[in-house]
Amino acid sequence: MEVIDGNAVASDLLEELAKKIQTFEDQKPCVVFIRVGEDPASISYVRKKEKTADKIGIESRLLIFPVSISEDELLDKISELNTDSSVHGILVQAPLPSHIDDRKVFNYVSPNKDVDGFNATNLGLLCQENKDAFASCTPAGILELLKRTLIDTEGKHVVVLGRSLIVGKPVGILLLQKGVPGNATVTYCHSRTPDLANHTQQADILIAAIGKPHFVKKSMVKPGAVVIDVGINRITDRSRKSGFRLVGDVNFEEVSNISSFITPVPGGVGPMTVAMLMKNTVKAFEQSLDQVTNQ
Ligand code: NDP
Repeated sequence: MEVIDGNAVASDLLEELAKKIQTFEDQKPCVVFIRVGEDPASISYVRKKEKTADKIGIESRLLIFPVSISEDELLDKISELNTDSSVHGILVQAPLPSHIDDRKVFNYVSPNKDVDGFNATNLGLLCQENKDAFASCTPAGILELLKRTLIDTEGKHVVVLGRSLIVGKPVGILLLQKGVPGNATVTYCHSRTPDLANHTQQADILIAAIGKPHFVKKSMVKPGAVVIDVGINRITDRSRKSGFRLVGDVNFEEVSNISSFITPVPGGVGPMTVAMLMKNTVKAFEQSLDQVTNQ
């Protein structure tokens, strides 16, 4: 059994990006983070993204709005950023307050600056296997992790637990596409799937993205399977100063005994999500340069 070190893989990717960014002469890639409210997890995620951007030479700006901001005000702000040529990427940190329609907001971000890949245009382009599309960062990070760990996906049966727009659906679409990594046979499971274990036991590659701590048990996994744990769940741990610790959707202790490869939480998929955001920002920057050249 091998534990996949997401930190190491992400660090390799970030190093490659930093080298590339050094070659950009006049202008550097710039991403704007929008945070609404003071949700502690959002604060911490955005801080991590800002730090990583800074480390590799991407300029970042942070706009913070109160939870009382109206949907129209937020859309106006996005509209300004969409037309600001010094901004190459825009990321609206989820979750948004309930009076704001998050899908409307994600769709409002210009597809060319949608570095989070949540925009309907990019999801459509992804289905068309268009290489210019921005793939959502966590699914794209999972593919990068599989590729760099030399895990073959061709002809493999991938079972995805979860069908969200952000993780479940796009990761299945990416693994289904023609190419490497890809060419997999994909089964999706969700909360209405009866006899879940019957499906998960058939997976050569099992991807758990449901948000339920330690949900996937040893009895649900085929011996020798590759297990990718996307879940990030906070559970109470009084022995820690913070009072909690992060665990995945997979019972790592049990499942790591029978899997061939497994991602830990933390330190598996999480770091790849941030790294892919940086990769998408560099891609958006390069595409903006191409547009200027082609004008
Ligand atoms: P959502 O809540 O949007 O989706 C969860 C999915 O899991 C839904 O499709 C739901 O089914 C399904 N599900 C829930 N309970 C069960 C169950 N008992 N059996 C089968 N399916 C179930 O979550 P996300 O996709 O946004 O995130 C999933 C997890 O991944 C979370 O822990 C989140 O924190 C983490 N995450 C981690 C990231 C990273 O960088 N590592 C990035 C993004 C998310 P249904 O559709 O029927 O309701």
